Amino acid sequence: MEFVTSRSEALDKLNKFIESDISNYNIKRNFDFGVNNRNNVSCLSPYIAHRLITEYETVKLVLKKYPFKKIDKFIQEIFWRIYWKGWLELRPKVCSDFIEDLKSIKEDKNYFKAVNAETEIECFNDWVKELKNFNYLHNHTRMLFASIWIFSLGLPWQKGAEFFMKHLYDGDAASNTLSWRWVAGIQTKGKNYLAQSWNISKFTNNKYKNVRLNETALPIIDKREYKISPIQIRKNEDLNDHLIIFENEMFVDFLEYKKYKKIYFVLLENENRSIKLSTKVIDFKKKIISSQLNEIRYEAELLDGNAFTNFTKTSNSFDVMYPSIGENFLFLKRLIKKNNLNINFISRKEDEFCWKFSNKGYFNFKSNIPIILSTFKLN
Ligand SMILES: Cc1cc2nc3c(=O)[nH]c(=O)nc-3n(C[C@H](O)[C@H](O)[C@H](O)COP(=O)(O)OP(=O)(O)OC[C@H]3O[C@@H](n4cnc5c(N)ncnc54)[C@H](O)[C@@H]3O)c2cc1C
Repeated sequence: MEFVTSRSEALDKLNKFIESDISNYNIKRNFDFGVNNRNNVSCLSPYIAHRLITEYETVKLVLKKYPFKKIDKFIQEIFWRIYWKGWLELRPKVCSDFIEDLKSIKEDKNYFKAVNAETEIECFNDWVKELKNFNYLHNHTRMLFASIWIFSLGLPWQKGAEFFMKHLYDGDAASNTLSWRWVAGIQTKGKNYLAQSWNISKFTNNKYKNVRLNETALPIIDKREYKISPIQIRKNEDLNDHLIIFENEMFVDFLEYKKYKKIYFVLLENENRSIKLSTKVIDFKKKIISSQLNEIRYEAELLDGNAFTNFTKTSNSFDVMYPSIGENFLFLKRLIKKNNLNINFISRKEDEFCWKFSNKGYFNFKSNIPIILSTFKLN
């Protein structure tokens, strides 16, 4: 399983998936047939997570070829991602609390057994190796993995979410943190996701049988309540000389970026991250940025977190492509406070429009999909 790193290659993958494989998605998507047989899902998440390709253009291309009804499950999965992003935007404290929680959780013997693939559970060990080798796991497997981590191995969900972020090429603060919370039973309070042996057998095509699991565990309890707070995109609308782009918002062609004197791409090194990423994930991000530097053919440079911090000491007014709640935003927030920065955030109108529908559950969000599709002429 190989992942590409440029926008043009990612678009090729998307088009190929639409041409050849998407029509089976509705019925086959839940099966994990193994790393050499991934045609039943798109494997586009690393590109969407870095916004090399956007959710909206993906939906538009798919609906150009198929009527909604035929590929509704695929469109809905894309909207799950948008929903999670909006949910976290409206409740940013969930992200900072998760990062804070991590600081006080100790890594014990059982944790090391899990991350070194040395547990008694064969499928889990295989998935740990797969995650480290391929930096991707099938969605159903992620659910099973998280459930085994929390309920059969008895490990804290936060450490599992951290482990995923460290190794996934598509690591995303919203989809990852909220999915782990969902499996644990604290996202939809009192409703946990329990992995079951029959389920693992069926959806791995009988690769694993009679897996011994805790199939009756109770949901995790977390009494913290999160009220909705307004989305924190502060704007002054004046165009500055410089544009800053973090690595999770790579495609900015909707902007007239040639009006800027220079663009700076920012990739935080581990020193400036709360969750330390694996070398492979950092390298993947570097390659994506380098391909964008080539593709945009404009005055641009890659900065690491320290170089960017130095830049903000000489220039305190600039435009930033809004990086959404997560590690990049938390870093930026610290800098804004420290260096008294005057940032003009630029955001996508589609995001701002959609995120407000994340104020309730997914089913409410889903009922707004038709209005989203028509507002942005996606169908
Ligand atoms: C515990 C757990 C952690 C996860 N962590 C991440 C993460 O860090 N980053 C991430 O992008 N996704 C995450 N997901 C969601 C999902 O597993 C992946 O997006 C999906 O497996 C990516 O594979 P694909 O591109 O082949 O998906 P496809 O099935 O082909 O779906 C198409 C696209 O829709 C979106 N999508 C699909 N399923 C989901 C979902 N359940 N939630 C949100 N978006 C979805 C993705 O952008 C994906 O590329 C997580 C799920 C779980 C259960």
